[in-house]
Amino acid sequence: MYRAKSSGRNQLRFYAPEYEREAKEQLELEIALQRALRGDALHVVYQPKVDATGVLRGVEALVRWDNDGQGSIAPDRFIAIAEESGLIAEMDAWVMGEACRQLAEWRAEGLEIPNMSVNVCAADFKHPDYPGFVTDTLKSHGLLATDLTLEMTERVLFDESVDDIRKTLDAIQALGIALSIDDFGTGYSSLSYLHRFAVKELKIDKSFVQGIGRDQMAESLAQTLIHIGEILKLTVTAEGVETQAQRDFLGTYGCHLYQGFLFSRPLAPSDLACWMRQQSCPSPGDADAKRPEVAL
Ligand code: C2E
Ligand code: CA
Ligand code: CA
Repeated sequence: MYRAKSSGRNQLRFYAPEYEREAKEQLELEIALQRALRGDALHVVYQPKVDATGVLRGVEALVRWDNDGQGSIAPDRFIAIAEESGLIAEMDAWVMGEACRQLAEWRAEGLEIPNMSVNVCAADFKHPDYPGFVTDTLKSHGLLATDLTLEMTERVLFDESVDDIRKTLDAIQALGIALSIDDFGTGYSSLSYLHRFAVKELKIDKSFVQGIGRDQMAESLAQTLIHIGEILKLTVTAEGVETQAQRDFLGTYGCHLYQGFLFSRPLAPSDLACWMRQQSCPSPGDADAKRPEVAL
């Protein structure tokens, strides 16, 4: 039944023995994830976002799961399981708490990290007191609304409970927390929501960034997405930047912020401190590069 449903409506699928194995595996993972969430098997890594001069403008919190039996499981896989099993809101709430705690700890150590981005999904926003939860979390770590950015995909706005989600988004906006559209350009291109929800940042999906130098269509799309951001006065961030050629191409068209393996992989908290120390001694050529104005 689940196979038929996941392939779209009005589908027919016949029973096959491997489905039973897959269903069992899925259930085992669900149970293990539940245990991980209540134990200490989840952790958060942080990927720097840098501006055109290489200065750190924020970090993105990305959740990781080390499953005893199976080693580390790709986030895309366990996040899908968390979504299907209804664990995602609890998991995201844990990530939010951990990310805020970590930001406060870094600052207490004197590390200047201007902003924390946290990934959110539709299930988070359906909770009527989500804005209250975020406010309390920020407050309990001595942080301000402007210290936080929520990254969501366009998909969130096309959820069936869109009315509840809109109320939450309005409340988030009223608090002064920045909203970012993740994987921009891969979803539905109804752009009116950018204005309606006072979005601050657009993140160009890595599929476009990684097509640079190889695929003219991806290049044209990356260029167009930067242009949209520029017209709407939004901060444009490119994700998945792996090569200097990609970085240079994006820079030519005025991209503001960059994130990707070229600068740094997602890092454990102590590694981020080392990374920052290395960055604080830039090469002479970097020192006098012009620093662009960015909103975040
Ligand atoms: P995303 O938000 O689009 O995050 C970017 C993904 O690209 C991350 O994958 C990151 O590790 C990866 N990445 C960064 N730079 C590069 C690069 O230069 N090259 C390549 N090939 N990849 C790069 P990750 O950590 O596996 O996360 C996958 C997705 O899982 C995220 O995509 C996000 O949608 C979701 N996710 C991660 N953490 C959370 C969370 O706490 N809550 C929720 N709801 N979703 C999360
Ligand atoms: Ca993201
Ligand atoms: Ca992405």
